[in-house]
Amino acid sequence: MTAPVRLRPEIAALPPYRQGKQASPDAFKLSSNENPFEPLPAVVEALHGALHVNRYPDAAAAELRQVLADRFGVGASEVHVGAGSVSILSQLLLAAAQQGDEVVYAWRSFEAYPGLVTVTGATSVQVPNLPDGSHDLAAMADAVTDRTRVVIVCTPNNPTGEIVTTAAFEDFMARVPETVLVILDEAYAEFVTEDDAVDGESLTERHPNLVVLRTFSKAYGLAGLRVGYAIGPAYVLDAARSTAIPLSVTEPGLRAAIVSLEHEDELLERVGRITRLRDQVRQSLIDQGWDVPRAQGNFVWLPTGAQTAHAAEVFDRAGIVVRAFAPEGIRITVGEPASVDKLLGAAQEVVRTL
Ligand code: PMP
Repeated sequence: MTAPVRLRPEIAALPPYRQGKQASPDAFKLSSNENPFEPLPAVVEALHGALHVNRYPDAAAAELRQVLADRFGVGASEVHVGAGSVSILSQLLLAAAQQGDEVVYAWRSFEAYPGLVTVTGATSVQVPNLPDGSHDLAAMADAVTDRTRVVIVCTPNNPTGEIVTTAAFEDFMARVPETVLVILDEAYAEFVTEDDAVDGESLTERHPNLVVLRTFSKAYGLAGLRVGYAIGPAYVLDAARSTAIPLSVTEPGLRAAIVSLEHEDELLERVGRITRLRDQVRQSLIDQGWDVPRAQGNFVWLPTGAQTAHAAEVFDRAGIVVRAFAPEGIRITVGEPASVDKLLGAAQEVVRTL
C-alpha cells in the first residue's frame, strides 16, 4: 500500500511506548511495577458513586487539587492533576521544549522519556547512569547547555531502583540555571525507605524552576484509573495546563484518588508490606551472588548484561513475566508474596547458566 499522507518523519519512525508484557492467567505479571492489592472497599464504593459518566469530569480537578494543596502546604494553583503522571510529563515537556532545544535525562531511565521528548521536536541528551545504577548528577549538570530547556531526574530511578540523595540534588540544583525546568519524577516516592533520599515535597518552595511529579498508580494502586499530580510554580503548571489535552482526567479517577488519600494509612500499611518484601527479595538475590543496586521502588534490578534475553526467557518459563532491558538487565516488580519462590528459583537458574 502506498503511504500518501505526509507525517512528521521523526514521529513516523518513533516506536509506540512499550508496555510491560501481559501475563497468562497462571503466570505472575511482574513487568509493570503495579501494586498487587485490589482497591480498598471505600474506593470501590466511591467509584460506584462516580459513575455519572454521561457528564464531563471537572477537568480542573479542583477538589483533588485542594486536598493535595492542603496536604503539601501550597496553594491550589501550585498543584496540577493529569491522566497519570506521564501525561503531566508530556504537558511540561511541550510547554518548555521545542525543535532546536535539548532535554537532558539519565539513561537507563523511564522508557517513556525518549518518545515524549521526540514529540516536542526537541533532542534527547541521555547521560549514562553510574555503574551502581544511580544518576550521574555531576555529568547531567555538565550536559546542560544554552539549548537545554528541561532536565528530568528520576528518583527512585526506573528501572534500576537507585535514589538521588538530598545533598546530591541540592548540589545539582545549584549548578543548573533557573531558566531550565527541572522535573523530579518521584513516581515511586512512597516506597523509599533510605533516610538520605531526596524528598521533592519540601523542595518546590525553594526552587523556582522545580516541578515534582507524583502518581496514584503505584503506592495507591490506581494505575488503571490514570491519576497523577505535580507540585511546582503556578506559572509553569499553568503552561502545562495549556498544553494538556482537554478533559482527559476522569471523574472515577478523581474520586478514587480523593478517597485513597482519606484512607492513606491503610494504603501505606500495604506499601510497608511491599517494601519489606522488596528488601527480603533483594537480600536473597545478593545471597545468590547478584549485584543488585539499592532497590527503593516496588521493584528490583538484576544486571543480567549480555544474558538479558536468555534470563527473561528463564523467568518466562518459570511463570514470572519480567521487563527486559537488553543488553543491561531485567526489572522485576515486587509485591506478591506468592511469586517470590518462583522468582528466586528463576534467578538461581540464571546464575547457574551464566
Ligand atoms: N514515572 C516513572 C518513573 C514511571 O515508572 C511511571 C510508570 N511506569 C510513570 C512516571 C508514569 O506513571 P503514571 O502515568 O501511571 O502516573
